[in-house]
Amino acid sequence: SIVVTGATGNLGRFVIEGLLEKVPADQITAVVRSEEKAAGFAARGVKIAVADYNAPETFDGLFSAGDKVLLISGNEFDKGRVGQHKVVLEAAKAAGVALFAYTSAPGTLTAALADDHKGTEAAILESGVPYVLLRNGWYNENYTEQLAPVLEHNAVVAAAGDGRVASAARADYAAAAVAVLTGEGHENTTYELSGDTAWSFAEYAAELSKQTGKEIVYNAVPAEALVGILTGAGLPEMFAQILAGVDASIEKGELAVTSGDLSRLTGRPTTPIADSIAAALKG
Ligand code: NDP
Repeated sequence: SIVVTGATGNLGRFVIEGLLEKVPADQITAVVRSEEKAAGFAARGVKIAVADYNAPETFDGLFSAGDKVLLISGNEFDKGRVGQHKVVLEAAKAAGVALFAYTSAPGTLTAALADDHKGTEAAILESGVPYVLLRNGWYNENYTEQLAPVLEHNAVVAAAGDGRVASAARADYAAAAVAVLTGEGHENTTYELSGDTAWSFAEYAAELSKQTGKEIVYNAVPAEALVGILTGAGLPEMFAQILAGVDASIEKGELAVTSGDLSRLTGRPTTPIADSIAAALKG
């Protein structure tokens, strides 16, 4: 079977949809926390397994020898994600899976956000399971799903200076995961996945101006100012610090790498940020 964790998340849903186009539904297992959230997949014949990274026993017997597994990294920053991911890894290793793919972060990323991914990668390498590291770059949607304050203030606010971001759509990263899970010869490979082109926040603001007919500017602020703005808007301090750390990495060029791995794996160009803006403005 092909087994996907985080299947009811934004990325996981695209992965399951992509798999359904390539393999029979009964060869796909969606690992979910909420059976209710997965009802649509179950109705289409996808097998459902209910498990939680915080409850190791829920992974007992979940995997079988020969399975290809995609561990989609979790989003509970305060619960020790490396430990959570190891729960899945150890169960997969015990079962003797054929492939263990993990959605990681770019190898160039030094921001604190990358620490959990580095810890998980180290555990995977140490385990000896056949692995694929899908080092996902930034999602277009990290920006295009946050347009409300931008359109309200006619300003894109970031602490990234003139840094550039080689982002791609979630659907592109999902298609790469599908290619790896349904293809051959990916064992023990690391892919640096990112968009084909990198954009700056000034260019992003200009594209928003073009598509909305409003004058939207890029307001580059220092990291402390960004933290103040984000916490002032209600974001917890921890997340604000994480986002400021990411912007510092962007300023240093850590998310601007365009390796071409993503479009090579999917066989199509990555989705330009302009397309994701258009989709967000329509939606
Ligand atoms: P989502 O937040 O939409 O999905 C996260 C998934 O992880 C959900 O399906 C969630 O389950 C599942 N999950 C979280 N905690 C647990 C747990 N304890 N046990 C089992 N499942 C759990 O994120 P995306 O799909 O958009 O992105 C996937 C991952 O990529 C994120 O979790 C994060 O690690 C990372 N990410 C990457 C970004 C990038 O730009 N490259 C940006 C943002 C995140 P449920 O559906 O039940 O909530």
